[in-house]
Amino acid sequence: MSQSATVIATFSRRMRLRLASNEIVEARIKGKRLRPVCGDLVAAEPIADETDWLITGIEERRNALTRPNLRGQVEILASNIDLLVVVAAVAPAPDWFIVDRYLCAAEIMGVPGLVVFNKTDLLEAGSDLADPLETYVAIDYQVLHCSAHEQQGIDDLRAALHDRTTIIVGQSGVGKSSLINCLIPDARQKTSEISAKSREGKHTTVNSMMLDLPGGGYVIDSPGVRDYAPALRSATEVERGFREIHDRGHECRFHNCRHLQEPGCAVKLAVADDSISARRYESYKRALRLADDLTR
Ligand code: GDP
Ligand code: ZN
Repeated sequence: MSQSATVIATFSRRMRLRLASNEIVEARIKGKRLRPVCGDLVAAEPIADETDWLITGIEERRNALTRPNLRGQVEILASNIDLLVVVAAVAPAPDWFIVDRYLCAAEIMGVPGLVVFNKTDLLEAGSDLADPLETYVAIDYQVLHCSAHEQQGIDDLRAALHDRTTIIVGQSGVGKSSLINCLIPDARQKTSEISAKSREGKHTTVNSMMLDLPGGGYVIDSPGVRDYAPALRSATEVERGFREIHDRGHECRFHNCRHLQEPGCAVKLAVADDSISARRYESYKRALRLADDLTR
């Protein structure tokens, strides 16, 4: 009698599942080949005389957030996501190349990306940090200015996440946990409960977990996204990751233009006249090099 369940926390080879009935159970994985991740829909069945359940299969993933591991293989961090929220902050100073890389990953997954600029309470009046954010607005990304400390922008963030499964990513220290805590008041407690239970059961540390949003929807918190580079498989994939470059690329002389040295390149023209941001173009070139390194 197997039933469909959602993986809501992973500790190496141990998992926590939410059954269709909303009951939460602990589970092991059948065999060595299955590698479920947070967000997966799995087939699971109870094990006779035990409290554990057994995961027997993984349903096809709608999408997956991936990164290359140290051996150059693609590692899946989470799946079946509706929205990717990239958090940057006034401090630590934002690295917009990293933000671009996350947004690139969202495009490749086919999910909307949203940029949260947190800690606006630290902004000095008249500072012009907003420029890179304008670049995102100009290419139709939703940008929210928030302060987790002063509860600013939290309602807008809550509205954007409502009824969706969202993964929150961004450099360490930008305030991801603080924002999650604004959205889910007992998030910190839940997180430590999950980790404590995992110690009792001799699990290793929690890899990632999915928390319920009051009012509907889920947030995935994954330490694996701290220092993130997407697993890019080809130049075409990289181009798809940069929406304004992808759009403009249709006007290039060569249909397979990589927008580097080719004659008749509409993208380079757009960079020259500032209708494509020079930084975004630089991000694109870096992502291309990353893809070349990974596929060599
Ligand atoms: P994470 O590593 O992205 O999860 O970041 P944390 O949520 O742990 O926050 C890192 C630090 O930034 C902590 O000291 C927080 O108190 C602080 N912080 C988070 N949000 C804000 C904010 O909106 N304003 C200010 N001034 N500090 C914040
Ligand atoms: Zn071109």
